[in-house]
Amino acid sequence: MPYVYRCEACRAAAAPRAWRDQAERDQDAHRERAHHGLIPDDGITRTGPPPAARPPSELWRAVRAVGRTDYTRQAAVLLGAGVLVVMLLAALTALIR
Ligand SMILES: [Zn+2]
Repeated sequence: MPYVYRCEACRAAAAPRAWRDQAERDQDAHRERAHHGLIPDDGITRTGPPPAARPPSELWRAVRAVGRTDYTRQAAVLLGAGVLVVMLLAALTALIR
């Protein structure tokens, strides 16, 4: 378990995590809960070598976590809106002919 999130302002540390993205989730959660989204004097330290391979269930969980971010949602909405605009323009072009 080589990654540990520490908040110097609170003098607290989260449980050690096997993967950096897990410690980053600890960081995001702590910043939101304890510091109302502000960024305290904190960081993630690596205390050892990472495990050789990530089990598939852990990998899938990490991929799903990326899908839950605001950036991913906004990208999906923009992509969907773009497809609708292209379909509308294609339909209007077909009507004009
Ligand atoms: Zn803190």
